[in-house]
Amino acid sequence: MTNATRRVYQFGGGAADGDGGMKELLGGKGANLAEMSRLGLPVPPGFTITTEVCIEYLEKQTFPSGLSDDVAAALRKVEERMQRRFGDPKAPLLVSVRSGARASMPGMMDTVLNIGLNDRTIEGLIADSGDPRFAYDCYRRLVEMYGDVVMGVSREEIYHPLLEAAKKRRGVVEDRHLPAEDLKALVGEFKQATHRRAGVPFPEEPGDQMWGAIQAVFGSWMNDRAIAYRRINRIPQEWGTAVNVQAMVFGNLGDDCGTGVAFTRSPATGETGIYGEFLPNAQGEDVVAGIRTPQPISGADSASKSLETTMPAIYRELTGIAQRLEKHFREMQDIEFTIMKGRLFALQTRRGERTGLAAVRISVEMAGEGMITKEEAFSRVKAERLNDILAPAFDPLEKAAALRDGRLLAKGLNAGPGAASGALALSAEAAARMHAKGGGSRRVILARAETSPEDITGMEVSAGILTARGGMTSHAAVVARGMGKPCVVGCGALQFAADGASIVVGSRTLREGDPISIDGTSGEVMAGEIRTSPPEVLRVLVDKTLKPGESKSFRDFDALLSWADGARRMSVRANADTPHDATVARALGAQGIGLCRTEHMFFAEERILAVREMILADSVDGRRRALEKIVPMQRSDFAGIFRAMDGLPVTIRLLDPPLHEFLPHGTADIEEVAAALGKPAGAIAAKVAELTEANPMLGHRGCRLAITFPEIYEIQARAIGEAAAEVAAAGVAVHPEIMIPLVMVPEELRRLRALVSATFEAAVAGGSGAGGAPGGARGAAKIPYTIGTMIELPRACVVADQIAVHADFFSFGTNDLTQTTYGLSRDDAGRFLPAYLDSGVIPSDPFAVLDPEGVGALIELAVRGGRGVKPQLKVGICGEHGGDPSSVGFCHRAGLDYVSCSPFRVPIARVAAARAALAEPLASSSNK
Ligand code: PEP
Ligand code: MG
Repeated sequence: MTNATRRVYQFGGGAADGDGGMKELLGGKGANLAEMSRLGLPVPPGFTITTEVCIEYLEKQTFPSGLSDDVAAALRKVEERMQRRFGDPKAPLLVSVRSGARASMPGMMDTVLNIGLNDRTIEGLIADSGDPRFAYDCYRRLVEMYGDVVMGVSREEIYHPLLEAAKKRRGVVEDRHLPAEDLKALVGEFKQATHRRAGVPFPEEPGDQMWGAIQAVFGSWMNDRAIAYRRINRIPQEWGTAVNVQAMVFGNLGDDCGTGVAFTRSPATGETGIYGEFLPNAQGEDVVAGIRTPQPISGADSASKSLETTMPAIYRELTGIAQRLEKHFREMQDIEFTIMKGRLFALQTRRGERTGLAAVRISVEMAGEGMITKEEAFSRVKAERLNDILAPAFDPLEKAAALRDGRLLAKGLNAGPGAASGALALSAEAAARMHAKGGGSRRVILARAETSPEDITGMEVSAGILTARGGMTSHAAVVARGMGKPCVVGCGALQFAADGASIVVGSRTLREGDPISIDGTSGEVMAGEIRTSPPEVLRVLVDKTLKPGESKSFRDFDALLSWADGARRMSVRANADTPHDATVARALGAQGIGLCRTEHMFFAEERILAVREMILADSVDGRRRALEKIVPMQRSDFAGIFRAMDGLPVTIRLLDPPLHEFLPHGTADIEEVAAALGKPAGAIAAKVAELTEANPMLGHRGCRLAITFPEIYEIQARAIGEAAAEVAAAGVAVHPEIMIPLVMVPEELRRLRALVSATFEAAVAGGSGAGGAPGGARGAAKIPYTIGTMIELPRACVVADQIAVHADFFSFGTNDLTQTTYGLSRDDAGRFLPAYLDSGVIPSDPFAVLDPEGVGALIELAVRGGRGVKPQLKVGICGEHGGDPSSVGFCHRAGLDYVSCSPFRVPIARVAAARAALAEPLASSSNK
């Protein structure tokens, strides 16, 4: 048989058909078992059925012809190696059937253990082990697992009540105190219940059991859990899973037995040394089930009952295996092992999952030990893990306890990483009130159906944000990420009660003020409070409450990022709208501001009224009057940002509000605006009705506003010029880049450029008339500035050569460009995109991951068009994609000069840009 058609790969006994490099075909587990066998480690023998078989089986619902012969031949080899036979009543071979995909998907797919037991072979197992209790316990577990996984009989509903009843009858609390006769009776009860529930009997024939399990494990690739996990972790459905059939070894044969999990370094902190837990006299399941408390692997303290003190020889052997595997794979390993009658078996090894903190430390230390290169060090840290370091995290033990206690309420989209606990607030006002009532220290979680600009103050005081609707680029998600707040969106299970005072999630009702916890890293929403701790990196860089020398995690983080900086070509900027965000961004390594959304400055309560006044004004004068109120506020914001970014470029986008985001809604709002404007509420309501657009995202927004009302951009340009002059006079190096949004025809940019540059220059020169900058432009040198445009519409991409004539730079607004290329509303897509993702119609959310074929092709076209006219045209991206690693990779390949993302994603973008440069070095290197 050639490798091209081989479907079954043998391993064990110091040899293997496959090897560690064959993860695509053998899955991670299968490939690593092969590799361990080749290394001569004590692996129970077995075989792997390939992922290709899985795909074929799922497509055709039947196995390829000849597979049963291949499996039979492989099983014979396992029998030879174990000197036992499958189905033999005297010396029965038992096997496990486990899944194993290319990427680890812990606990998402199914496993069946102890296959091969029936009323005949049980006698062999009893004779063999000399332990009827053990044998019947294995049998009981087989019927339960098989019934659950293969025949769809619920453990909770059917098997567990029978087990509980048996324990009650016997007067014992723990399973292990049930004697053999009770377990034997339970096997009978389990089988009867299985037959009743499934309509067919539990299969006695070992071959039937094995094939049933193989089918079920392949099928589990398509269970809801696995589908959801793949979606979250962007694992393609076409990969399929392999199935591993492996001889059983038992950790529950007595006190010289046990089972456990060992990590070669701490998965929580990254500290070197063997970590983990084991349970003497137990099967793997017992460790996971949490019924017995596992004992630590290391620890010389005899009271800890560690493996080191209770089985020192095994501990030494395990340590040796662990070190060998880590060296061999040059990666931290997570090893499952079983001790059977004093013999150690390695059941599997895989790359150990770890926290962000551990990931960085392990990479940096491995580079220090010479095990990996610096490039490998930063390439290995997964982007999302890097983000964990900047976010408060739940205390892992408290969170595990909360999940165990059934406090998980629901899961939504993990829109903003980090953990937050606090009192539930159901409106922005309530959030602000509750926060203020606690003297500003009460932690509040704001839950809304969705958020709007009016919620901004409530969002600002909240520790975390939760919405029932919306996707990854919804208002809540974008704003929360910008603020670095944990955020879960699109949590459809939340139902808001009509009285606005409570929410219902499943069978539970939570009232305002009730404690709630959200994990924006995983999307989980839990009842009750869970302790969190602030990240050290931010304490050093932003709060300055820790010195660099006091934080190992900061030093590791800093080292890793400086290695990445040395490798990248693109620069990384941040999207920041306030001096505070700009300061945070700079501390995290931003090399400029790529997008300052001026309308975000208007969301604050005292400003929104002036903005509404401007929008609702009937005349140029009315608009000017309203705008004049805004100018001083804008000027001081700009000045603050310029100071924070001293020496670095700051791209300020002129007003781009889809008007609906600012119009007053509801009677109270309308009355407030009416009072402020001294007009009847009816007149305001009529104006609102007049301005209401059917399709505001494609409506009177972006530079269209200034084509019709030039005074808006004029006044903004003046505020920028005055602010620049003011800070320049104080010695700050200012580099404003004024950006005009949503250009569709070159003429828009030509006109507005002329207006903006004239106004800006006049303001800098101090000639802007009324209300000149405090401190004025006296003596300010000429300020270097540029004027460019956002490229956010397909037409703009196509005519980019004509637009470039009027632009000093392009910045791709890929949120709108995605919206307009797909014809897919950013605000509404969250309602149906999940269905597209779940059913595999599209591989990923185009608002989160840049679509290279459609949107990307337009970007490439625009870069070619623009640079064809101006070879030095500076080009960047400022849509949400600027912080997504795969999109950053695309930007590198497309020749962009920089990416701009939310401040807390700057480190991720730095690493992603470096990885992209390593993968595809480009000849040019401008690094602007
Ligand atoms: C964009 O469209 O990508 C962009 C950055 O602008 P906004 O999200 O503010 O529309
Ligand atoms: Mg836009």
